[in-house]
Amino acid sequence: MNVLLTGGCGYIGSHVAVVLMSEGHDAVIVDNLSNSRREVVDHIAQIVGRPPTFYQGDVGEFEFIRDVIRRHRIDSVIHLAGFKSVGESVQRPLQYYQNNVCGALGLLHAMEAESVSSLVFSSSATIYGDPQYLPVDEAHPQHVINAYGRSKLHIEDMLRDICISRPSLGVICLRYFNPVGAHPSGLIGDRPNGIPNNLMPYVVQVACGERDFLSVFGGDYRTPDGTGVRDYIHVMDLAEGHVAALNYLSTNNGWHAFNVGTGRGYSVLEMIRAFEGESGRAIPYKITARREGDVACSYADIRAAALELNWKATRSLEDMCSSAWRFQSRLSKA
Ligand code: NAD
Ligand code: UDP
Repeated sequence: MNVLLTGGCGYIGSHVAVVLMSEGHDAVIVDNLSNSRREVVDHIAQIVGRPPTFYQGDVGEFEFIRDVIRRHRIDSVIHLAGFKSVGESVQRPLQYYQNNVCGALGLLHAMEAESVSSLVFSSSATIYGDPQYLPVDEAHPQHVINAYGRSKLHIEDMLRDICISRPSLGVICLRYFNPVGAHPSGLIGDRPNGIPNNLMPYVVQVACGERDFLSVFGGDYRTPDGTGVRDYIHVMDLAEGHVAALNYLSTNNGWHAFNVGTGRGYSVLEMIRAFEGESGRAIPYKITARREGDVACSYADIRAAALELNWKATRSLEDMCSSAWRFQSRLSKA
């Protein structure tokens, strides 16, 4: 299959590229490198043994995307390109709607013009808001409280409308929980610019001495140890979930949404302990105030993905921590 991967130089996209290409598919990456580096393309090639096709450009540019689709006879699209920082989206909502929603619109127009009828979209568990029950299933009420979450929900809703008007179209919205970890080679991984917002990249930077300590946001949640609980999923499992989604779309059309998690939650303190165990480094931390907008506990009901996509995460928490540490150790040495 010829697959267009938007945002394929990013953290998740690079892992999806590796899994896709390792299974014999051809990956055509479009990325404007606004949050990634060109060298990722070489690292993908090093892992897989052949290079992906790469275009530096914006996913919202209709003529450009249409040309890429036509030139490479694209069968399916995996749309990962977008901005992803919740905090930044509160400060700069216009940029988030412009890049995420208008970007998706440009891509969708180009797909329609070239009759591409299969799309996997990177959505997020953030669209569920504060869980009303656990585990969170796909029918859970949606409640977004920031521009990032709303941009994801708008795109999901747009896709639903488009599927009604174009019955031949097949769309899967994958609602990611908390992707962590890296490819076992340590060549690709999560490399945020500036101060990391997410837990794992911050922990990793504390472990290698780039930051003094971790601030644990809240120690008084109604969870077993008082710290926030999340459903962390290995990025390689997540990447394999995309291939399962594409396979499903080869025989199904219409609009679908699936949670992508492991179905179990770990607290911040459990994550720290697991990481210390794998890295052999101490992670100094201080319990600080809760972070605004955080929920106490969130983990996925994963039955729908298991049943429909025939896919389930298999990698352990230890794998998540050791691979993240391997990636950071390689970066620190470089
Ligand atoms: P990332 O920032 O590492 O990757 C996104 C990539 O898209 C980057 O390489 C960036 O340069 C590119 N990009 C952004 N806007 C673009 C545009 N207009 N045109 C072309 N390229 C563009 O992020 P990630 O963690 O790999 O996330 C991928 C997707 O998954 C995003 O849509 C994100 O919202 C979603 N998601 C991520 C998480 C997470 O925790 N990482 C959780 C839920 C959902
Ligand atoms: N967290 C933390 N310190 C940090 C970053 C995150 O204590 O520096 C906590 C956060 O409060 C949440 C968990 O770690 O309970 C996961 O946060 P992350 O930002 O990685 O993911 P999300 O908030 O999107 O679930």
